[in-house]
Amino acid sequence: MMGSGGMIVMDESSCMVDVAKYFTTFLQEESCGKCVPCREGVRRMREILEDICTGKGKEGDVALLEKIATGVADGSLCALGGSAPNPVLSTIKYFREEYDAHIREHRCPAGVCKALITYSIDPEKCTGCGLCVKVCPTQATSGEKKKPHKIDNEKCTRCGACIESCKFDAITVK
Ligand code: SF4
Ligand code: SF4
Repeated sequence: MMGSGGMIVMDESSCMVDVAKYFTTFLQEESCGKCVPCREGVRRMREILEDICTGKGKEGDVALLEKIATGVADGSLCALGGSAPNPVLSTIKYFREEYDAHIREHRCPAGVCKALITYSIDPEKCTGCGLCVKVCPTQATSGEKKKPHKIDNEKCTRCGACIESCKFDAITVK
């Protein structure tokens, strides 16, 4: 749904579950709370999406989201509630495999959901320039000069600063 004139272009680096969570969080904040289906239904959808994005998704969550979404759309008093399920329903309809990857494989294909991704350095591409060490806020990157570096995933907060700094495309997110 494009709302009142907005259009967002996304590519494979956008996680569609995260996108659904983003819009549902916005809608939860916008809901006036007068009617129960919108107030509670949108809140519950956001909680389920949060669980899925943090690796706590369960089999049956997608079906539950669809059920709640239908209830919110049918039972809400105004247009906000009536259209609030759209981001959830359309991402499920067109990007169901992304939901399945999060829930069944604990994997975020777009590399967005921090709880489900890890950063690593390809030793074949790393020149040991040290830039990633300079920008890492948690000292998670290390290595000798001119030798392949590595990332300590216990310390890594998935901030993404290293991947932006690397000029050799040596850092990957999986
Ligand atoms: S910035 Fe890239 S090339 Fe430089 S040390 Fe880090 S991973 Fe290696
Ligand atoms: S993602 Fe952030 S915290 Fe993790 S290694 Fe890269 S710069 Fe450090």
